[in-house]
Amino acid sequence: MVDRVIEKVRAGERVNSAEALELYRSAPTPILGQLADAIRLRKHPDGVVTYIIDRNVNYTNVCVAKCNFCAFYREVGSSEGYVLGFDELFRKIDDTIAVGGVQLLLQGGHNPDLPLTWYEDLFRAVKQRYPEFKLHALSPPEVIHLSRLSQLPVPVIIDRLIAAGLDSVPGGGAEILVDRVRTLLHCYGKATSDEWLDVMRHAHRAGLRTTATMMYGTVETDVERIEHMMRLRDLQDETGGFTAFITWSFQPDHTELGASQHITEATGVDYLRTLALSRIVLDNFDNLQASWVTQGGKVGQLSLAYGANDMGSVMIEENVVRAAGASYCMDELEIVRNIEDAGFVAKRRNMHYELLGDPIYLERDVPRMLELAVAREAGDTHVPEELMNYPARSRAAKQLRVVPRNPVS
Ligand code: SF4
Repeated sequence: MVDRVIEKVRAGERVNSAEALELYRSAPTPILGQLADAIRLRKHPDGVVTYIIDRNVNYTNVCVAKCNFCAFYREVGSSEGYVLGFDELFRKIDDTIAVGGVQLLLQGGHNPDLPLTWYEDLFRAVKQRYPEFKLHALSPPEVIHLSRLSQLPVPVIIDRLIAAGLDSVPGGGAEILVDRVRTLLHCYGKATSDEWLDVMRHAHRAGLRTTATMMYGTVETDVERIEHMMRLRDLQDETGGFTAFITWSFQPDHTELGASQHITEATGVDYLRTLALSRIVLDNFDNLQASWVTQGGKVGQLSLAYGANDMGSVMIEENVVRAAGASYCMDELEIVRNIEDAGFVAKRRNMHYELLGDPIYLERDVPRMLELAVAREAGDTHVPEELMNYPARSRAAKQLRVVPRNPVS
């Protein structure tokens, strides 16, 4: 049967779930790569591989969701919990613009002590200072968290965030869009599969473009991996709002799931097979990113022969994957070297995949970046002053936000 499916893909036809499963289980890895590469070439015949310069900022690590695959979050009241101040975020934007960056990828924990108005004020403040700078912010579970916190429907939250300056929505928090898996990963409560997809549907209807992701290699079966792709393909057929798909493997270090289930990290070959399969299944997605942050530069480069047409982000900062033990870093020079050595032309892009030009370091001096920045330096526990303006819900935050009415000097 696999030969028949291979021929079907070569003929440019769409595969169903059973055929995708047959390919994943039985097609030799080089054949999967050839099929995916041919689709990549059909969609991107110009030989260009893109990347974006942006900064992956996590505005808070305090989270009530407690997903068991996450090494990043801290509980409410933890001495290691943080919320970044507006001034810290402005400094990060300044540093990003200095190296040619065009947007923040802004995501964070489900912090019960940050009301919707905090996000609106932040977005407005960013747009006032940096009108051209883009906010690719708040994955679907964060939008749902805000909807529950403020008791407003998701479309209202999206409209208010757009009015404040939201430009696009990152596809985080999808993990695997199958509720059996989400229950086992303790992420069913933060967003069911339907809820995740529904936020994206509303965002697309409101005119926002978004990305889609898949974190595989936990407790899902290969059938469920394919179900995830099919659900994304269906929504893309309906709305056309996804710009790109990004997949990466679960990073088990320092996670509850990794420790309790003795899960080891998926191999590079499994990554390439999964990536190639997603290029074949997601025939209505134009762009696939290579996940070099979890796979490393070399597998990231190989991804360009397995269906990827984009090297993702130069990053600058990363906190989530690093907390789970992966710490790869590539600055623009290194990303461009990997693209060119694979035989492609490297171009900068924005979130909409519009080309912005050649590598920025060819235009001006940019400092080399040999290490990814972190949200905050170790030991920095300061509480931003503006937080006092927002009501807290947790007892721990209420105590911190008490401002003495008649301070004694
Ligand atoms: S993955 Fe996100 S939602 Fe889940 S615990 Fe970590 S920070 Fe919270």
